[in-house]
Amino acid sequence: MQSLAATLLRVTDRGLYCDAGDFHIDPWLPVDQAVVTHAHGDHARWGSRSYLGSREGERVLRTRLGAGARIRTVEWGEPVEINGVRISLHPAGHILGSAQVRVEHGGEVWVVSGDYKTEPDPTCTPFEPVRCHTFVSESTFGLPIYRWAPRRRCSRRSVPGGAPTGRPAARRCSLGMRWARRSACLPGCWEWRRADLHPWGSGATEPGLP
Ligand SMILES: [Zn+2]
Repeated sequence: MQSLAATLLRVTDRGLYCDAGDFHIDPWLPVDQAVVTHAHGDHARWGSRSYLGSREGERVLRTRLGAGARIRTVEWGEPVEINGVRISLHPAGHILGSAQVRVEHGGEVWVVSGDYKTEPDPTCTPFEPVRCHTFVSESTFGLPIYRWAPRRRCSRRSVPGGAPTGRPAARRCSLGMRWARRSACLPGCWEWRRADLHPWGSGATEPGLP
């Protein structure tokens, strides 16, 4: 039987939960203390009593959760303690402010990736490898049915609908992240990245969803 230290996190009906620290990571239902990896709607949801997120992502998280949300932010790698459990956030390279959550207790270290991307991205801090005993990885598009074009293969022609001045054919991200990323690549590259897009029509692509 595993000890508590060896099972720092477990899945509950509200999301990934740390018994020792009494907090959830990216809960899908309201909780007392939520640690949020990033501001996409399938990770940051309304209704929790308080939130912990990255300083880099503070503004987008505020946009997602609203003016009344109680949000505490920390710098990359800055340790905080919740009920004796040490937490720090480390760049995940997915969108602005996206974080991996490092959880340390009783000599055990777990890292929760959230959505992450290891390719360079001009709109956010690059992914940082973090040593740990257990790595909890998100892999929405990890199935082999997905094939993604290398970053440098992107071109104007790769955008359905045509030139940068034309109307983009992409479905919008409610946080504007995809537009920001493409804009950051202009004019040298009209980037059409799919590696970190959520499926069309998912909650993460619809504005105003929790
Ligand atoms: Zn995401």
